[in-house]
Amino acid sequence: MLDLKVLGSSSTGNCYLINTSKEVLILECGVHYKRIFEALNYNLINVVGCLVTHEHADHSKSVNDLAKSGIEIYSSAGTLKALGVEGHRIHKVQSEKQFRAGNFIILPFEIQHDAAEPLGYLIYHPEFGKLLFATDTYYIKYKFNSLNYIMVECNYSKKLLDKNIHSGNLIPALRKRLLSSHFSLENVIKFLEANDLSALKGIMLMHLSNSNSNANEFKEEIETVTGVPVTIC
Ligand SMILES: [Zn+2]
Ligand SMILES: [Zn+2]
Repeated sequence: MLDLKVLGSSSTGNCYLINTSKEVLILECGVHYKRIFEALNYNLINVVGCLVTHEHADHSKSVNDLAKSGIEIYSSAGTLKALGVEGHRIHKVQSEKQFRAGNFIILPFEIQHDAAEPLGYLIYHPEFGKLLFATDTYYIKYKFNSLNYIMVECNYSKKLLDKNIHSGNLIPALRKRLLSSHFSLENVIKFLEANDLSALKGIMLMHLSNSNSNANEFKEEIETVTGVPVTIC
């Protein structure tokens, strides 16, 4: 079972804790560091690191505070440069080059977003198997085998976006940005259908937009397509 704690999953802040019996991996640090420490019960000793996907503040704002507290930070060279962070806790990782953090084996991969060098992460741990983590991307060019869990952004549906444009609730320029930077329900479904879901146990949808998404509809639609339980983060 994947033991996941969600501290934030929206454009106001993203942070997830992956707990195993002895270790914790932090995904993103786009919430206040005090909230992260509180969620960890101020016990940082089991934390093996924090993966950051890209430099936007909703994913990275506590990066300096975590590094200063001794937490190892992993991200791409482009993201770290854009954030202006360096030091012995800061580790550059590369797309398609596997690395380890404690007993987690992690494979970063390129995603498509309006950021310097954004990454998704394929994460393996013997206690839960293979987890795919991909957010802030409008498309994923890779295919993955025998995934056990998928955490994926599902920001908006084209249907709701167009409805909001027609009613004047959304400016067309924002629509254009969303289409080339964030994952739509329609593209998430295409991505899921292109992958091997035979070992899949659960899907977590992340980073839903407040105005252009419908959590219940998204959950139902993806459960129908994949046949596995879907939770909204
Ligand atoms: Zn974001
Ligand atoms: Zn972003």
